[in-house]
Amino acid sequence: MKRTTVRLADGRELIYFDRDENADRGAADRRDLPPRPPAAELRRDPLTGEWIAIAGHRQGRTLLPPADQCPLCPSAPGRPTEIPAAGYEVAVFENRFPSFSASAPDDGAADPGGLGETRPAAGRCEVVCFTADHDASFSTLPPDRVELVMRAWADRTAELSALPGVEQVFCFENRGAEIGITLGHPHGQIYAYPYVTPRTRRMLAVARAHRERGGGDLFAEVLAAERKAEVRVVGRNEHWTAFVPAAARWPFEVHLYPHRRVPDLCALEPAERAAFGPLYTDVLRRFDGLFGVAMPYVAAWHQAPVREGRDLACLHLELFSIRRAADRLKYLAGSESAMGAFVNDVLPEEAARMLREAVTN
Ligand SMILES: [Zn+2]
Repeated sequence: MKRTTVRLADGRELIYFDRDENADRGAADRRDLPPRPPAAELRRDPLTGEWIAIAGHRQGRTLLPPADQCPLCPSAPGRPTEIPAAGYEVAVFENRFPSFSASAPDDGAADPGGLGETRPAAGRCEVVCFTADHDASFSTLPPDRVELVMRAWADRTAELSALPGVEQVFCFENRGAEIGITLGHPHGQIYAYPYVTPRTRRMLAVARAHRERGGGDLFAEVLAAERKAEVRVVGRNEHWTAFVPAAARWPFEVHLYPHRRVPDLCALEPAERAAFGPLYTDVLRRFDGLFGVAMPYVAAWHQAPVREGRDLACLHLELFSIRRAADRLKYLAGSESAMGAFVNDVLPEEAARMLREAVTN
């Protein structure tokens, strides 16, 4: 793999990942870009103890531009984009509108008179372009491209984990206008947080308590139980199993676990990395086949935090959709949004059966 780092006109880093060792990635960004925004602010909710990033500058983000103005397509003569090259395989760059960044904070933005703790939202946000093809989707990527994306994710996880103050690296993809994406080009994002996120913190606490009660590795036990029960398994191969979790929160939710417990993407062996794409893209095509319409989804890589719980955490991908029927979406309304208490209208065993039987194209 060839890895080339360049700087965009406003100083942001862009990294090309290529299988072709001779790929020429020297094109310069000649745009006249405004300076990068100040860092967002983190405020701790005094009642829940959770950190909230306040990023006022994100209101001005580009929102669903027409395809001929897509900033993630390669640059063409007279149409410079975020990616100066005329073509690329996988490209990763710093988000122009980051929720977390190393920029200096805006003076005077600190929570006036609040009870909660505040600090700059240090960290980093990156955009990962999976392909130069605007009309592709992750489900149509060939296996060798998925592997290259995985190597890019692992590279970024290692490098961002080493940044000062970063506590957790989260690689994810939001897909579909219904999920709230602002750009249609196939891409994902990476957040390097300066704290351990609430959901990860809770999962690690449960796994720790399980071990302290004399239990074993909770993630491994869940995987073993699902593989044995089979009823919620959607697909599997030598190195990975995809199943609907017993207590799924979303109408269609699938978790993909490697059979060997590893803390993060960096720890996967080449054979494990190679085996992921064929199973995952099959699951994505089953999602799209459920109702014959493209499924909006979130695909979330759960990785061990940088410092905490690395012996407890288990790398896995959680994929879920908010679509519950061809013409119906699941909205996070009162119970979920206000209380964090999920109600799922689809029986997980039924969701698994529907996914196994879905037509894939
Ligand atoms: Zn595009």
